[in-house]
Amino acid sequence: MPAPLTLSARAQALQPSLTLAIAAKAKQLRSEGRDICSLSAGEPDFDTPAFIRTAAAEALESGHTRYGPAAGEPELRQAIATKLSAENGVSTSSDQVLVTNGGKQALYNLFQVLLGPGDEVLLPSPYWLSYPELAQLAGASVKLLPSDASAGFRLRAEQLDAAITPASKLLVLNSPSNPTGMVLSRADLEAIAAVLRRHPHVAVVCDEIYEFLLAPGHSHHSFAAVAPDLADRIFIVNGFAKGWAMTGWRIGWLAGPRAVVAAASALQSQSTSNVCSFAQYGALAAVSGPRDCVIAMAEQFNQRRTLLTEGLQAIAGVTLRAPQGAFYAFPDVSAYGLDSMALCRLLLEEVGLAVVPGVAFGDDRCIRLSCAASPTTINDGLGRLQRCLATL
Ligand code: GLU
Repeated sequence: MPAPLTLSARAQALQPSLTLAIAAKAKQLRSEGRDICSLSAGEPDFDTPAFIRTAAAEALESGHTRYGPAAGEPELRQAIATKLSAENGVSTSSDQVLVTNGGKQALYNLFQVLLGPGDEVLLPSPYWLSYPELAQLAGASVKLLPSDASAGFRLRAEQLDAAITPASKLLVLNSPSNPTGMVLSRADLEAIAAVLRRHPHVAVVCDEIYEFLLAPGHSHHSFAAVAPDLADRIFIVNGFAKGWAMTGWRIGWLAGPRAVVAAASALQSQSTSNVCSFAQYGALAAVSGPRDCVIAMAEQFNQRRTLLTEGLQAIAGVTLRAPQGAFYAFPDVSAYGLDSMALCRLLLEEVGLAVVPGVAFGDDRCIRLSCAASPTTINDGLGRLQRCLATL
């Protein structure tokens, strides 16, 4: 008898992405004929704008079908550097940009080349569920910096200061935040920068994937623009999925200090090689084109966020401060006495509503609902939620 295959310790410790799993489960149940309303994954329901699709189709037709440089097409790296310099105020050159298979691969590559055993990642909580897994895959430990809905889910500078130890290597900032919708203001970022100036061994990764999705009255500030003196330890992760409705294209980027980006590029050259060559030309059209389509979709998301927020706030026992950006609401539903996993299971089984348990994001009192869905679907979801909660 052959010896049974054992998984590596790394793989044994790894949890699959629950957001992707729940979205897939919702699709599967629907295909089996069940009446399912999904407010689970953060995936725009809009089609990718036509000019982007056309650019990729033309690139495909004109023969962009071969290997390209592992770090990305030079024109796309340059266009992303130009966007960062002009739109975000972060002076960047093309050799500081790596084109990746979505924002997730940018994070994966960065964590792999920067982190190892003995290193600590400082993670404001609630957090997007892939950060801790990616940090642990790189051998690092995770120190959570908890925040509360009552404090607007903000990271406080004193709290950060107190959490830093000699082992702290990387702070994760995600604004606008998934799942809370919190947006860090310029003043918040200035206070964080003041702390980091006192701790020169701590680098920062800023996940800016929701930069265009902002409720009225809120602005996105790139940390590297607020604190240019810290630019030699700030990394930016971003991508095309949310702003341009390009989730399935899998194109993102990592930008930051050259030597680390070069190491991440070497890792990519040995693991996945270049991102799909013709798809990069669609991304090139997107990032070089006007922002009208991005703004139009962001306006729709604003209306939908308001619809979802007001609908949730009207349900007795549900507590929610209005999210300031991204396309999620993260209400506290602990008044109903169930843990978030049990509640989400009940919602799926009893009323066919797919949402994500807050425990996956570090807060078991909450559930996450996405407003990246049509107003009809959002209203349907709110109705189902209310019906189910009324039975508890
Ligand atoms: N980031 C999105 C979400 O949180 C997509 C799924 C994922 O990659 O986790 O729903």
